[in-house]
Amino acid sequence: MNAAVNETLSQRVVALTPTPQDARLCDQVLTQNNISVCCCDDIQGFTTAIAEGAGVALIAQEHLDGATINQLKQTLSKQPKWSELPILVLLQPGEVGSTILQQILSLEHVTLITRPLRIAIFVSTVVAKLRDRQRQFEVRDLLREQDSDRQSLLQSSETLRRLIEDSPQGLYVVDDELKVLHASKGARDAFSNVDPLIGTAVEDALKCIWDTSVAEDVVAKFKHTLETGETYQSEGFVHQRVDRDATEAYEWSLERVVVLGDRYGVVCYFYDNTERQQSVDILLQSEKYFRDIADASPAILWVTDENHMCTFLSKHWYVTTGQTEAEGMGLGWTTATHPDDQQRAGHDFLSAAKHRQPFSCEYRLRMADGNYRWAIDVGRPRFDDSGKFLGYTGYVIDVDERKAFEQSLEQAKQFAEAANRSRGEFLANMSHEIRTPMAAILGHADILKDHLQDPDDQQVVETIRRNGNFLLNIINDILDLSKIDAGKLEVEKTKVRPDGLLAEVRSLMDVRASEKQIPLRIQFDGPIPEWIESDPVRLRQILLNLVGNAIKFTDEGEVNVVCRYAERILHFQVTDTGIGIKPDDQKALFRPFTQVDNTSTRSFGGTGLGLAICRRLAQALGGDISLQSEHGRGSTFTLSIEASEIGQLVEPNLAVDIAADNPGEITSIQANVLVVDDRRDIRYLARHFIEKAGGTVVTATNGREAVDTITADEQSTIDLIVMDMQMPVMDGYSAATELRQRGCTLPIIALTANAMKSDRDECLAAGCTDYTTKPLDSNALIAMIHRLTTQATC
Ligand code: ADP
Repeated sequence: MNAAVNETLSQRVVALTPTPQDARLCDQVLTQNNISVCCCDDIQGFTTAIAEGAGVALIAQEHLDGATINQLKQTLSKQPKWSELPILVLLQPGEVGSTILQQILSLEHVTLITRPLRIAIFVSTVVAKLRDRQRQFEVRDLLREQDSDRQSLLQSSETLRRLIEDSPQGLYVVDDELKVLHASKGARDAFSNVDPLIGTAVEDALKCIWDTSVAEDVVAKFKHTLETGETYQSEGFVHQRVDRDATEAYEWSLERVVVLGDRYGVVCYFYDNTERQQSVDILLQSEKYFRDIADASPAILWVTDENHMCTFLSKHWYVTTGQTEAEGMGLGWTTATHPDDQQRAGHDFLSAAKHRQPFSCEYRLRMADGNYRWAIDVGRPRFDDSGKFLGYTGYVIDVDERKAFEQSLEQAKQFAEAANRSRGEFLANMSHEIRTPMAAILGHADILKDHLQDPDDQQVVETIRRNGNFLLNIINDILDLSKIDAGKLEVEKTKVRPDGLLAEVRSLMDVRASEKQIPLRIQFDGPIPEWIESDPVRLRQILLNLVGNAIKFTDEGEVNVVCRYAERILHFQVTDTGIGIKPDDQKALFRPFTQVDNTSTRSFGGTGLGLAICRRLAQALGGDISLQSEHGRGSTFTLSIEASEIGQLVEPNLAVDIAADNPGEITSIQANVLVVDDRRDIRYLARHFIEKAGGTVVTATNGREAVDTITADEQSTIDLIVMDMQMPVMDGYSAATELRQRGCTLPIIALTANAMKSDRDECLAAGCTDYTTKPLDSNALIAMIHRLTTQATC
């Protein structure tokens, strides 16, 4: 019941004066003192004005009797509780009846004012009463404020209570008697079979869900927190529920709080960890599962992190190396690598890791007993779903036995290669040894032929010579092949004119072709380089072999050689219309000692070495030989060699003067030559060639004799020295060196067994002027002597 009080009217004076004249007076006096006045005509108007709002009620005694006092009381009773409306009663002059006075005083907050009025006192009384009235309003406001504070406090605590109770989080509060005071929804769910939960002792509630001992344990913690104020944080709470078939895990904590006035209580927060715990369990289980697999594997498995630190090694590592887990982690595992392999293995790993690449490397691993065994280590990078590098996983496998096998294989290969080489060297030496006497036989056959007059005798010698030459060719082939196999073949790089070379081949082969009445044609498909860089001797050898075969195996038709140059490759296509080669035989053709069929061998001769040599030579010249053939119709052998052109491409010219570089055959010399060789045959042959060409000869059998002869020859009758390099007592190298040291400036021609560039360089280094190879070639020797004796001496 809060009657409305008009606050704007609460400072006015509501007056019911004795007379209307008094009303005017009252109005005048109070208005003069800034007090508003509401003068009423009767008690009805008076009470109505009071109900509307008044600061002071002023009433003349004349208007008061039992009925009006009751009416007034009724009006006042409707005022708010805090409202104490001051009532000023203007007493009638003279005696006041005690009954009426008592009735008047029964109105509360009445002040009696006697008449006649003393204006000043009256005004100050009114002012004082108005001030009181004002204070009442102020107190009311204050009370109202407090009231609203209390309200909001109540509201917020209600909100909090609701929040707690609706919260799905686990939270409940117990009071100082350990009875549940509040419980969140989460808590009510956890204690779902405790009804009602609020007001139940926490121990009883806990016993409904946990084993008694667990519950008592928890309650003890509640008590401790309640008594000491110490907070409590649970650790690893995992227990079997007694009310359901489940093992649940919780994290919970206790905190003392103030509840209900000054009393303490304890709040318990808990978090259901069951699912997390389950996933942790699953993770642990799967980790164990994989660890078991890793440990059972015969390979060593390992894992590194993104900084290449080892974070896992399977059991086998520790068993194998004897390292402890602490020793193996990080970079510790690397200490089990053989010191000689550490740097290489580390480099292999880091260079792969730099590019996040897989890697594989082999190193020796120290076993628990201190011995080393070879192992292969294979790793792959790991990335997460976003592609972030996580490190490597890998495995190590013992490959010691495989390695030993590989090493034995390698050794066997080396033995085989060495055996092959020594076989090659033996063949090279042997064929060389045969070549020298062969040269002597042929040379002497030439000499004998010159001495014989009877054509029959000459025919016999000619047969010896022809077969000797044939044998010499075979030996030359074997020598070539064995040199190639022994890795001793060296090719030169000099300026060669391809058209000139082909012209030379044609001039050499024309005789054979015309013997068989087969045209031999040389054609060019487009311009070719004027000069190329290659080995003319070897190139000529290949072409002669191919063209020779083409003529040999062709009885009808023709032999064509087509030369074409494209993209720094020079192609020579040798095509014949001969017997051709069966497809099966083509494969074996370039293998040494292979001939297609025995019938053709018998009728055509040959050793089956030519093509094998040609292919190797072609490869040495940076090319190859290919074959296309149809049995019975002919074959095309194509030689392709690397040929970087020198100068420009030209229209080829077969009439080119190939002999321009080679002066014509020299048949006459005028020189006194000292021939130094330990072999009588060579001395004899050389003498024969030189003397036949018009020269004279002095001989010596070793280097020492040669040096002595030259030093003794004060008149300097000797013009040139031809000196074998391999001799007893003093070899040609030492002799040449000594002669040069003694100031000898005569030209020295070295006679070497091997036609290799290295031999030549060695001869020149020893002081020789030029060199020629055995067996002695009469023309070459005479031309060389001529050249060196007609030039200025060295
Ligand atoms: P050979 O010295 O025996 O000729 P080659 O190595 O030069 O040795 O040739 C091997 C074999 O290849 C020859 O015996 C022959 O059977 C076959 N052959 C080579 N060239 C031709 C050709 N142009 N036509 C047919 N057969 C050929």
